Amino acid sequence: MANVVDLKRRVCEAVDRHAGELCDAADWIHQHPEIGHQEVQSARRLADLLQRAGLDVQMGTAGMATAFRAELRGRGDPRPCVAILAEYDALPELGHGCGHNLIGTSAVGAGLALKDVLPELEGSVWVLGTPAEESAAPNSGGKVHMVNAGVFDVVDAAIMFHPATETTITADGSLAARGFEFYFHGRAAHAASMPEQGLNALDAVVQMYSAVSMLRQQVRSDVRIHGIILNGGAAANIIPDYAAIRYRTRADDSEYLAGVVERVVDCAEGAARATGCRLEWTEYMPGYENTVPNPVLMDLMLTNLRAIGLDVATERKRKGRGSTDFGNVTRKVPGVEARIGITEHWDIPAHSIPFRDAAATERGRQAMLAAAKGLAMTAIDLLAEPDTLRRARAAFEAAMGPR
Ligand SMILES: [Zn+2]
Repeated sequence: MANVVDLKRRVCEAVDRHAGELCDAADWIHQHPEIGHQEVQSARRLADLLQRAGLDVQMGTAGMATAFRAELRGRGDPRPCVAILAEYDALPELGHGCGHNLIGTSAVGAGLALKDVLPELEGSVWVLGTPAEESAAPNSGGKVHMVNAGVFDVVDAAIMFHPATETTITADGSLAARGFEFYFHGRAAHAASMPEQGLNALDAVVQMYSAVSMLRQQVRSDVRIHGIILNGGAAANIIPDYAAIRYRTRADDSEYLAGVVERVVDCAEGAARATGCRLEWTEYMPGYENTVPNPVLMDLMLTNLRAIGLDVATERKRKGRGSTDFGNVTRKVPGVEARIGITEHWDIPAHSIPFRDAAATERGRQAMLAAAKGLAMTAIDLLAEPDTLRRARAAFEAAMGPR
């Protein structure tokens, strides 16, 4: 059997050898932010790194232009297969306020490091470029599209890193999340001379916004409902004949969330009725499921990150949670997301200017390199010791229950 300790030492040395180009790519992507499904240059930059190392990269996974997959083959059968997930999309106006420039480069770094040791292992590793994690772009959720297209049907475990304000491996799941847009159609009229002839679509949006704000108090405390007005009319002297609002709705689990969604739609219908407007609405992106923590994979990642000197906590100081399309992946195969701090300020929010700036600091780059090592080491554990993967699978089955 392969000497795991030796293989891990070699991948760590390889990450250090590639550190310069990985950091350059992380900084470059940070300086060239692209939103979901438009990450053309970022995907290209990451694919180039893999190709320059002699790896074959296929673009267009699951029909998405900015998705990619590089397969590293070990000995024999391609199974077991460990997928290392990359993200590289940014937020509108804010740029890399979620630090995905570091996620993409960490996955590529792990792939580059594993290239030389994989011939000594059985199975395969993918570096999988997954677009549009942020819900800010239409039809986002690249990983959901991949799950639905069957991409993960031949994957045995999925692992990734996300930058954070604290370095933690915890069982906190993400929130299930869905996204909706509500369009109100009224009737235009002169706002001064004949307002009685108008049907005010902006009033419908304001009514809905108020109703949802009241609803928030009558739901479980894990629920989050938040939105932006997409359109509020064309001119102050015209009664707006069209207005629109976009909401994200979240809860601990999809079942409870479904009930919350019904009540949000009720708020929209009530507002339409009250203002005489016609309502149309749509779910503008696929739902994100809450993540299923996998204790076996968490344990491997924790051990590996500590082995390279990281101070990893198993509790978070900050309890707030977001959502991720990785949730859907963790309901398909065993998965783990390592969170590594990129700032000493644990209380700054993600999706903020301070967090964005942290994603381009030396501390951010070091977190990315540590993640690349942790991901590569965890992939080695999974491929070198088939029993580890069996235990991860058993934990996954237990968490998912009978299906
Ligand atoms: Zn993120």
